[in-house]
Amino acid sequence: MRITAIDCHPVWIGHRNQLLLKISTDQGLYGWGESGFSGRERAVIGAVDHYRELLIGRDPMLPGAIWQELYRSQYFEGGRVLTAAISAIDIALHDIRGKALGVPVHQLLGGRVRDRVPALASTFAAPGPEMIEEAQSFVADGFQAIRLQRGGRDANPHEPWEAIGETAPWMARAREALGPSVVLGVDFHHRLSLAETASFCQRLPRGTLDFLEEPMRDETPEAYTALRTMTEIPFALGEEFASKWQALPYIERGLAQYMRLDVCNIGGFTEAMKVAGWCEAHYVDLMPHNPLGPVCTAASIHLAAAVPNFAWLEYNRSRFRPPPQIELDLFPNSPTLQGAYFPVTDTPGIGIEVNEALLSRDEFRYWNPPILRRRDGSFTNW
Ligand SMILES: [Mg+2]
Repeated sequence: MRITAIDCHPVWIGHRNQLLLKISTDQGLYGWGESGFSGRERAVIGAVDHYRELLIGRDPMLPGAIWQELYRSQYFEGGRVLTAAISAIDIALHDIRGKALGVPVHQLLGGRVRDRVPALASTFAAPGPEMIEEAQSFVADGFQAIRLQRGGRDANPHEPWEAIGETAPWMARAREALGPSVVLGVDFHHRLSLAETASFCQRLPRGTLDFLEEPMRDETPEAYTALRTMTEIPFALGEEFASKWQALPYIERGLAQYMRLDVCNIGGFTEAMKVAGWCEAHYVDLMPHNPLGPVCTAASIHLAAAVPNFAWLEYNRSRFRPPPQIELDLFPNSPTLQGAYFPVTDTPGIGIEVNEALLSRDEFRYWNPPILRRRDGSFTNW
C-alpha cells in the first residue's frame, strides 16, 4: 500500500477552525487526522506541504518510522508547528493502519484496558450561583470530575487580581455545595504570574481544589518548581507540550500531577503513548486536552482506552455550548457521551467518517484568539 495524497481541510465550525487532514492510498483506504494548533492553521498547512513531498509513495503502515523522519529530517528538530502537522499525519496513518488490519486503533496501542472512558465536565458559567448549579447538574448526570470556571474568562481588559478575587470565594462555595467526593479543578489558562498563582492558591481553604490547571505558562519548569513550594494543590499541565522532551522536566521533577497532553499537538499516537508510559512510571494519570472536534475526541478515546494511567478526558460542552449543527452534519458518527462516559468502540481505525461534500463550501476564515489587554494597555495572555 502506498500514500497517494495528503489533503488539509480547515473547516470553520462554531467560532473557529478545525484543521482536518486526510491521507489517501492506492488501495482506496484513507485516514483522517486533526491538528491542534488553533489559530495558526496556515502555518501547519505549510508544514504539511513540505511533508507531502516526503510522504507520497510511502508505506502508510509505518507511522513510527515516518514520525522519526518528519521530526528530524529538516536538521532543525521539532517545534510546535511541525509537531501539530506530524500529529495530524500520525493519527491519519493509524486510522489507515487500523482499517487495513480491520481493528480499532486502541488495539494497535496494546488493546483496551477499560470498557468506557470517563469524561471531565467543564462549566462555562462565570463563578457564581449558576456555575455551582451547573456543576450540581453534572454530578446528577454521573460526572466524577468537574472543571469550574475562572473569573474574567471573556473580560477585556483582563485584570488578574480581579479574576483571582472573583474566582477564589466561589471555589470554596462550590466545594461546600458539591461535597467531598467530587473532584474539582479550575483552569487559569496560563494567565497568572508566579505571585498571582501563589496568592490564589493561598486564598483557598485546604482541600478546596483537587487540581489547578495551567495557572502559568510552561516555558520555564523552574517557575513551577518555585510554585510547588508555595501550594499543595496538584497541577494539571501539558496541553501545549509539543514533544516528549517538553514533557520530560515536568514528569521527572514532579511538577505535573495530571498530564494534559493533546494528541493533536504532542505528535499523535506515536508520541502520546511514549509520554503516557513515562507518566505511568511516575504514577501520573493522563487528563487529555480535548478542545477541538470529533477527530480529536475519537483519537483521545482510543488513547484513553489503551492507557492504564488515565483519569478523565476533557469534554468541552455544556448546556451553554452545545455542538454546532455544522459539526453534527460534518461528522455523522461523532463520539457521543453515554452519561458521563464515552463508549470504547471497535470500529476499525479511529471510527470517524467525514461528510466531505461539506468541506469545500467556504474560503479559509481567519481567526486569532482574543487579544486581551490590561487596563494599562499592555498585552496579556488569552
Ligand atoms: Mg486548559
